[in-house]
Amino acid sequence: MKIFSLHSAKNKNTMKVLKFGGTSVGTVSSINSVISIITENHNKNLSQVVVSSALSGVTNKLIAMGKLAAESNDSYLETLKEIENRHYDVVKALIDVKSQSKVFANLKIVFNELEDLLHGIFLIKEVSVRTLDLVVSFGERLSNYILAEILTIKGIAANYVDARTLIKTDNNFGNARVNFEVSNALIQKHFAANYSAIQIVTGFISSTDKNETTTLGRGGSDYTAAILGAALDVEVIEIWTDVDGILTSDPRVVKKAFTLPTVSYIEAMEMSHFGAKVIYPPTVQPAFAKSIPIRIKNTFNPSFEGTLISNKAESGNFIIKGISSIGDTALLNVQGGGMVGITGISGRLFSALARQQVNVILITQASSEFSISLAVDPSDAERAKEVIEEEFAHEIRGNKIEPVVIETGLSVVAVIGENMKENSGISAKLFSALGMNGVNVKAIAQGSSEYNISVVVKKIDLSKSLNALHEAFFLSDVKTLNLYIVGLGLIGKTLIKQIQNQSEYLAKKHSLTINLVGLANSKKMLLSNDSIEIESWEENWEKNGTETNLAEFVNTIKSYNLPNCVFVDNTSSKEVVTHYNDLLAASVSIVTPNKLANSGTYAEYKQLRKLAKKHGVKFLYETNVGAGLPVINTLEDLLTSGDEIIRIEAILSGTLSFIFNSFKEGVRFVDIVKEAKEKGFTEPDPRDDLSGMDVARKILILARDSGLELEPNDIEVENILPKSCNDAKTVEDFFVELENENQFFENRRKQAENEGKVLRFIATLENGKASVTLRAVDATHPFYSLSGSDNIISFTTERYKERPLVIKGPGAGAEVTAAGVFADIVKVFHYLV
Ligand code: ASP
Ligand code: MG
Repeated sequence: MKIFSLHSAKNKNTMKVLKFGGTSVGTVSSINSVISIITENHNKNLSQVVVSSALSGVTNKLIAMGKLAAESNDSYLETLKEIENRHYDVVKALIDVKSQSKVFANLKIVFNELEDLLHGIFLIKEVSVRTLDLVVSFGERLSNYILAEILTIKGIAANYVDARTLIKTDNNFGNARVNFEVSNALIQKHFAANYSAIQIVTGFISSTDKNETTTLGRGGSDYTAAILGAALDVEVIEIWTDVDGILTSDPRVVKKAFTLPTVSYIEAMEMSHFGAKVIYPPTVQPAFAKSIPIRIKNTFNPSFEGTLISNKAESGNFIIKGISSIGDTALLNVQGGGMVGITGISGRLFSALARQQVNVILITQASSEFSISLAVDPSDAERAKEVIEEEFAHEIRGNKIEPVVIETGLSVVAVIGENMKENSGISAKLFSALGMNGVNVKAIAQGSSEYNISVVVKKIDLSKSLNALHEAFFLSDVKTLNLYIVGLGLIGKTLIKQIQNQSEYLAKKHSLTINLVGLANSKKMLLSNDSIEIESWEENWEKNGTETNLAEFVNTIKSYNLPNCVFVDNTSSKEVVTHYNDLLAASVSIVTPNKLANSGTYAEYKQLRKLAKKHGVKFLYETNVGAGLPVINTLEDLLTSGDEIIRIEAILSGTLSFIFNSFKEGVRFVDIVKEAKEKGFTEPDPRDDLSGMDVARKILILARDSGLELEPNDIEVENILPKSCNDAKTVEDFFVELENENQFFENRRKQAENEGKVLRFIATLENGKASVTLRAVDATHPFYSLSGSDNIISFTTERYKERPLVIKGPGAGAEVTAAGVFADIVKVFHYLV
């Protein structure tokens, strides 16, 4: 056993303080872990002080009992029984039978005392904060006593210490202030006299100079550990809790949050004020003052190194350390012309609030001085409004200041880190990540220390904000796209397969993860706000899918409010398109081969782009024209780089391409159409292809993308079929008529041939006009030698005037279409911050 000596030479004392939180002593098995952690230190001859909380939930129950008793409700007795049994169960499980009776006897004395106290409250029908402090003190007294007994009985010398004898405070019950001078002396004296046994010290509780019981505030056991650690100048203060340390963000909201190996004292303080309550904020101060490191450890994962809080703000790889939040806040807006240039307004404002003990979370004032916004806890909002309106009653009456407006349903998100001050571009990153996801920022505050930038957002956007920011700051290289896929036919299935096959490559080369979160066809839909395993999507969707309701599908997307969402429409349905505006307005990008959205009215076409721009998302449809061929992108690139389109000529239907490319001497037109149908190249009724309507839609899209405000009716489409073919009732009749008209087609072909030309069904855009016509082209034309079912698009522009820019290749098929959709999805990702 090491002999403990105070102020040993230059080195810090080789002692450490271990503090165990409520969950660490919450169950028999967790107490077992605590005992082995202490035992291991003991076996290594390490000198240690132990501080423990009450068993988890006990403090709350004690408070509840006190309140019930004060309301003359004797059901507190049931809770008391329950608490008693919980402690007895620990003793039964962890202390051997022959040693139990002494422990039971001692516990019984304590429980009797507690019962008497509660009975007293019951009789006088009143419980003060002062009495409540005494009531809650039982939690830590019981847990630490039992711990000391377990260790002693195991043969490890341990000594139960009631911290009320060591930590002296003022009489601010419920949240007392420590008198360090007195306390430090008492602590040092106690430890100088008791060095041979491990001191097991109650957390949280303390006493006044009159020995009245006080507490250090909820969660105060951490603080007890720091007070002892600082007084004894220990080597390290270990806070043993139920998480792996201080994380980059709340792991319940941000799945990819990870443990920070090191944070500075200042960062720890900033972060502990927010959501992730890993340590009680005042804890840092005594350790900071003496440069004693604090290590956060997980009782349930003891081999993990956790987080070290120390003087060093190691920059690591990230500019910021964490993203925290306060889930519920209200914003108060104080404004009025009478505030401009007047000194003393904010002084009066905040003094008034302070007098009424309204805690202000965040303040912003525009330099116009026209308004001051402040965030408070929602439970303080009404009171704060009253206080302010009372203070400025005079100004309000005189219309110099307006009545205070309260806005609720808000949250604060804070980006924290000491290294922010040396870096620029942090707020740009913050706002673009939020903006890209359609999160509106209500108020912004940055302290000039630059350790913290806080923004106020709508509560419904909180989770999305945290995730988007976490991704932007911590996973700047690894992005996740959340994908909703509607349409699970050949293209949809192929797309999913391609994503699955490429996932490793995307992760490695592009640091992109595509996360499937929704699937639907016309019958069944499946949604998940987390992830749908891609390998087993089909079984899962078959088994767990519910009847498709597109409106519900879209509403669910909105309610999940996930960051970086892409909606893929692989259908050719008009109904799906009716939801596009809604999706874009909810900051969801859209990728689709469905032409209907772009080929409706011009107003609709325009609106989609307006919404996408307004909400910072993408609407991508490369596969609308020529499937996977880069037609739309090429056109866009030409235009954005300042080129001018003189003419676009294109064969935009694989079916019509095949038919006319095959129409040669000695082959009958009808036989080619039949062959095309047999090969599956045509629609069930080949007239749907031959009518040229689909091609018209495509040239309309190219025309609009070139800047023309054309309506569908403005496209001239040549009807190449004789009347009898058009009028035929059935497909069979159509083929009969087509055979009858053989000479008609043969004549057209022959005529062209005589001029050294071939027939091609060409969409043309020129001089502001678009048309689709059957034309005869000669050998100098790029379409002359086309074969098979290829699409071909030729752009004649200011730059490509002599020889046009030609794109040629397969313009249909599930593989190439899915690949084009896939490329658009990846393109959405490239626009992300
Ligand atoms: N038991 C006290 C509480 O629940 C103190 C602590 O756990 O730190 O607030
Ligand atoms: Mg606690």
